[in-house]
Amino acid sequence: MEVRAVFLDRDGTIIEDVNYLNKIEDIKLLPYAKEGLTLLKNNGFKLVVVTNQSGIGRGYFSEEFVNKSHTIIDSMLGNIIDKFYFCPHTPYDNCLCRKPKTGMIDEAVKDLKIDITKSFVIGDKESDIELGLNAGITPILVETGYGKDVKNKTKAAKVFNNLYEVAKWICRKDFTE
Ligand SMILES: [Mg+2]
Ligand SMILES: [Zn+2]
Repeated sequence: MEVRAVFLDRDGTIIEDVNYLNKIEDIKLLPYAKEGLTLLKNNGFKLVVVTNQSGIGRGYFSEEFVNKSHTIIDSMLGNIIDKFYFCPHTPYDNCLCRKPKTGMIDEAVKDLKIDITKSFVIGDKESDIELGLNAGITPILVETGYGKDVKNKTKAAKVFNNLYEVAKWICRKDFTE
């Protein structure tokens, strides 16, 4: 059985990007995020969040806070996320997991036995798009978060308003193949 996945950026894609989220009360789902992710889940996609959290490496908040935030985000979405991965490093650490490097995707592919040819990467920054290109996975830009700023010069395969529009396109595409 092939395992298909959608690799999702967190800030600006699923929740509002508040620039180094460090308070639980600042977690706000973006419009249509829950609807989009639910549709993908119901169509058999694993939902995998891959997020750069350099605020940990910079000392702005702890790993424990990030884990707690992820539990809360997942419960706001109806407990449908299969796995959260985060990079705690700063750009100066030169790690292998900070997007657009593919460390988090490589790990998820191993953990969940994902077939990347049937998978997608979705995000609001060009580093998310480059992540998809580096991993050999179709990248899609959403216009939420920073997406509006880059939509005219992006290397993304497709651009959509929000996660629900992306999900409808992915699922429609799936049915016609
Ligand atoms: Mg983002
Ligand atoms: Zn890292």
